[in-house]
Amino acid sequence: MPYVIAPPAIVSLPVVGCADRFPVRRIYCVGRNYVEHAQEMGFSGREAPFFFMKPADAVVPCALGETVEMAYPPATTNLHHEVELVVAIAGPGGRDIAPERAHEHVFGYAVGLDMTRRDRQGEAKKQGRPWEIGKAFDGSAPIGAIVPAAQCGELLDGPIELRVNDRVVQSSDIAKMIWGVRDIIAHLSAAWALSPGDLIMTGTPEGVGAVAAGDVLLARCAMLPELTVRVR
Ligand code: MN
Repeated sequence: MPYVIAPPAIVSLPVVGCADRFPVRRIYCVGRNYVEHAQEMGFSGREAPFFFMKPADAVVPCALGETVEMAYPPATTNLHHEVELVVAIAGPGGRDIAPERAHEHVFGYAVGLDMTRRDRQGEAKKQGRPWEIGKAFDGSAPIGAIVPAAQCGELLDGPIELRVNDRVVQSSDIAKMIWGVRDIIAHLSAAWALSPGDLIMTGTPEGVGAVAAGDVLLARCAMLPELTVRVR
């Protein structure tokens, strides 16, 4: 089909053990999904899950064994890291997926960083404004290679950790998520039709903090490939 301008490229992630890539459609993110992180942000940790989104082209894909660079973004002086388990949806997707069937829609898992302009997010919260300026900026979603669920099974527990310059700053277990992956898919699909290519960033544990240009972030989750990001 002819277009009046060149169509945008399809953003994609590498898949472990496979030459073909996973094309990204949407990125859904879960807010405050670990009790200790909710508390460090000033909340009880007892809320229903809520969601925000990042654009697909915010993804910074990281191949196996690679260190990716992310530019320190403009319009912030308080860039925060949030290490998260990322779920890739294979489909069929759709609306009103029951938690008991949710795992059938999962293609696989990766580790990712929900990079956040915390100063801008804080202002938005205070003023009752949208979060995009704080969450949905260019390069705000570095994500590693996806491991297919067919290889690793359903990921229900396992350590999740972030090191900044070799110092552990976030350390928890994905079993501590308030809403597990099946519940997240059920809640999300009550409000949006999930589709193949969707990613879900499942929330971060406690220990979020600022990073500076020159820092190296090493994210790990369960047996998933590590994600290494250098901020430039
Ligand atoms: Mn997050």
